[in-house]
Amino acid sequence: MDWSTWIDKKVYSRLKFALSHFYNTTCELCLEVNSSDEFICTPCRNTLPNIKNRCQICAIPMPNSGYCGQCLRKKPAFDYSHSSFTYAAPIDTWLQRLKSSRRIEWAQKLARLMLLQQPDNLTHVDAFTFVPSTRWSLMKRGYNPAEVIARELGKQLNKPIIAKLATRSHSREQKELNRHQRINNVGLHFHPTHKTLAGEHIMLIDDVMTTGSTAHSMALILKDAGASQVGIWCLARTPKH
Ligand SMILES: [Zn+2]
Ligand SMILES: [Zn+2]
Repeated sequence: MDWSTWIDKKVYSRLKFALSHFYNTTCELCLEVNSSDEFICTPCRNTLPNIKNRCQICAIPMPNSGYCGQCLRKKPAFDYSHSSFTYAAPIDTWLQRLKSSRRIEWAQKLARLMLLQQPDNLTHVDAFTFVPSTRWSLMKRGYNPAEVIARELGKQLNKPIIAKLATRSHSREQKELNRHQRINNVGLHFHPTHKTLAGEHIMLIDDVMTTGSTAHSMALILKDAGASQVGIWCLARTPKH
């Protein structure tokens, strides 16, 4: 490459970058000028990890739609799940920004992505709720990622948010435990606040669903409080139980 071509290329890319700040934003993934309203362009949006066939109850990816073996053996307390995406790149990286790097602006971005892949039964849903944080996580992060996503979705979809259904306390973070330990860890440390729900259809919003045990424990509390139906809507579902 000769110098003039190299300079032309440099000038062009700088100019394109500068112009993108005046007229549009750049796409988070391909860094091209993005004319869509989202933080990624439409072609990149179509490459986000998703899968058509999932278990209707726990949203685990399956070869065909229906019910997975685990849900057939023991149905969880929730009635159905909807996962907007699969937990894989780049969703996992974006979620880490919200959860570990304390970049709260990602809650709005991720909620907007969820809106693009929303469940089709939302008209029947009375209210949204979320999995509470432990006091320790709340102190560490300053916010509950699931709550900020739920509040953003509630605002966009005009749904009330039910908060303080339960408090949570556990000494160990879920991500440090294996499946068996997680189930026990969750079951022992959710404390219902005895709020009552009159036969409502509640959607529990979560960022990522891994084993489904947290969702199960929360659904038990919601059903005990009087909810007639409990659904889960998560940003991403891990591909395996
Ligand atoms: Zn792009
Ligand atoms: Zn299942």
